[in-house]
Amino acid sequence: KPNSRPLLEITQVSKRFGGVVALEQVSLQIWPGEILGVIGPNGSGKTTLFNLISGLYGPDEGKICLYKPDGSSVLISGHSPDQIARLGIARTFQNVRLFNRMSVLENVLVGMHGQLRSRFGGIILQSKLTRQEEMRAEAEAMELLALFHDRLLPAMNRSASTLSYANLRRLEIARALAAHPSLLLLDEPAAGMDPVETEELMADVRHLRAKGVTIMIVEHDLSLMADLPDRILVLDSGRRIAEGHFSQIQNDPTVIEAYLGH
Ligand code: ADP
Repeated sequence: KPNSRPLLEITQVSKRFGGVVALEQVSLQIWPGEILGVIGPNGSGKTTLFNLISGLYGPDEGKICLYKPDGSSVLISGHSPDQIARLGIARTFQNVRLFNRMSVLENVLVGMHGQLRSRFGGIILQSKLTRQEEMRAEAEAMELLALFHDRLLPAMNRSASTLSYANLRRLEIARALAAHPSLLLLDEPAAGMDPVETEELMADVRHLRAKGVTIMIVEHDLSLMADLPDRILVLDSGRRIAEGHFSQIQNDPTVIEAYLGH
């Protein structure tokens, strides 16, 4: 896509932990509206890449740049996770992190607070919402729940702890979307799901893309990436070893060897 601007541009990023090289000179671009898959065997640096983008770590070398709709760019490497979230990058984690005792709807409302805070300049968390603001927020949260067909919305007043595991993972995505991110990072969203649940979740993610959300999805299992991503990046030992559509990388000897070697 030579004529458009990337949403996120990662240039020559490296990250070490003591003597371990987790990422070595990795560059990549994420284009607006695409689903980018990042795969690789265990220890190849996938999570580290996510952690760098979401600000949990800073890179030892290289830079990460987020392009805003107005064409300006922000260097996000070096910003805190909070700042990066406010700049429009949201993520889920490998382990579900929700408020179990809150309702499904409240969990999404919590995800909206960052947005409300920026919209009304810091007052929302300290003071109460007016009834009108509250209703507007609830309507918006319900719209987000409705993106997941009839799996979350009918359960909106139930405690999150009553949801099935697959629906908890959906709720986590809904909560991440509540901040209106321009980029959504999904860390092994199908982990722990059976094949049917996985296929259903992938269909939901596809539906989100149709709504214009740009998505980067990390997955260990290559076979799960057959239909969903527009493009797949393959990491091995912290290096980028291949890139392309599933049909291209599936038969790439370098990729096969990387997986066999682990
Ligand atoms: P993946 O997500 O592909 O399994 P990771 O990014 O988790 O890979 O890990 C890449 C390498 O970096 C591994 O060797 C891992 O042990 C190391 N690593 C990742 N995070 C840390 C950390 N916080 N401290 C020490 N080593 C780490």
